[in-house]
Amino acid sequence: MPYHWPADTDFALWELDVLDRACSVCGRMMYVCDHRYRRLHTLEGPVELLCKLNHCPDLACAGHAKTKSPELEVTIALPKWAIGWDVLCWIGHRRCSRHWSIPQIQGELWDDYGIQLSDDSLARYIRQYQIMLAARQEDPVALRQQYAGVDQIILSIDGLQPEKGHETLYVVRELTQKRVWFAEPLISATADEVRRLIAKAKEWAERLGKKVVLWLSDRQDAFVTGIAAEFPDVAHRYCANHFLRDVAKPVLEADSHAKVEMRKKARGLRKIEQAVLKRQKAEEASVLSAVADSASTSSVAKPASAESAASAESAAPAESAGSVVLEYCAAVRGILNDDQGGPLQPPGLRMADALSEVRDSIQRNLDEKKGASPKRNSTAWPAVSTAASTPLKPNKKRCVAM
Ligand SMILES: [Zn+2]
Repeated sequence: MPYHWPADTDFALWELDVLDRACSVCGRMMYVCDHRYRRLHTLEGPVELLCKLNHCPDLACAGHAKTKSPELEVTIALPKWAIGWDVLCWIGHRRCSRHWSIPQIQGELWDDYGIQLSDDSLARYIRQYQIMLAARQEDPVALRQQYAGVDQIILSIDGLQPEKGHETLYVVRELTQKRVWFAEPLISATADEVRRLIAKAKEWAERLGKKVVLWLSDRQDAFVTGIAAEFPDVAHRYCANHFLRDVAKPVLEADSHAKVEMRKKARGLRKIEQAVLKRQKAEEASVLSAVADSASTSSVAKPASAESAASAESAAPAESAGSVVLEYCAAVRGILNDDQGGPLQPPGLRMADALSEVRDSIQRNLDEKKGASPKRNSTAWPAVSTAASTPLKPNKKRCVAM
C-alpha cells in the first residue's frame, strides 16, 4: 500500500543526478529522459527525492530502451521504501539490540521524529533488517578478518525457542570469538537435519582453515550422533550450563515439596487475624461505652468514673499486643508467598530459615511472659519484648501507629 502523506507535509527537496553518464553499451553521453519523484522519511525530516533518469540518445543502441537511475539513490533508500536507511537502522537497532516491542518503536518514532508507520510496515522493515544483519553476520570476508589471529576454535550448538509456540531455532556459535555463526529454525529436528547444520559448521571451519578443538552441546541424541559423525576426532563436552540445569531439576522438585509441607504446618493465619480484629473491636466498643457512661453519670458517681478509666487503661496494652500479632501474621504470610530464587538459592531453604526465626521470636515472647507479673490478666495478649530484635521483628512504632 502506498504511504499516505498528510497534505501539509513540509518536504526537503533533494535532487539526484546520474554521475557516470557514459552509455554502458556504446559509450555515448546519455541524456536526461525522465524524472522520478519519491518521498520518504529520514531522521532529519520528510524528504522529496528528485531522481533524474538517463538513457542513451541513440535509437539504434540497446542502451536507449533502458533508463539509468542516479547511483546515490540506493544509498538513501532502497526501492519502494517510505523510509531512509537512517530510519531503518534506527528501527533495527531498537528491535535487535534493545529488544523494544513494535508498539514501543512505533510510539518513539512518532514522538521523536513525527514518523508514522503501521504495524505491518514496521514488521516488514524489521524483517528486512534482520535478513541484512544475518547476511552481514555470515559474510565470509568479515569472518576471515575476525579469525585472522585465531588458531583453534570451539563450536557449540543449541536449540532455542525465542517465542513460545514458534519452531525451535538451532544456533551454532563459536566460543573463542563469542560469535553466532548461523542459526536456522527447524520444525522437526531430526538427526539428519541437525547433522546438516553440523556439516555446515565443518565447511565453515574448513573454509577458514581453523582447527576445531572442542564441541559443546547438551546431550540431545541428534547432537551426540551428528557431532560424532562429522567430527570423529574432536572432543565433545556436555555443556556445564545444561548440566547445572539438569542437576537443578531434582533440587527444585525437593525444594518445592518442602515448601508445600511447610505451608501445611503454618496454616490458620486468617483465623488468628479475625480473632484479633474481633477482640480489638469489642474492646474499643467497651471503652467507648465506659467513657460514655462516666460522662453521663457526671460528678455524683465518682467511683464509676474511676473504674471506667481503669478499664480504658487495661485495654490499651491488649490492643497493641493484638497489633503485634497481626504484624506476625503479615510477616508469616510474606514468608509463605516468597517464591523467588533458582536452584542455587532454593526458596524453600530461605522459607525454612525465616519461619524458624519467627518461631524463635515467638518463643522469646512466651519466655518473657512466664517471668512476667502474675497480676497480668491471663486473657490479654502477652507483651512483646523488643529487646531481642531480629530482622523479622514487627516494627514497634508501626504497631503503635495502627
Ligand atoms: Zn548507447
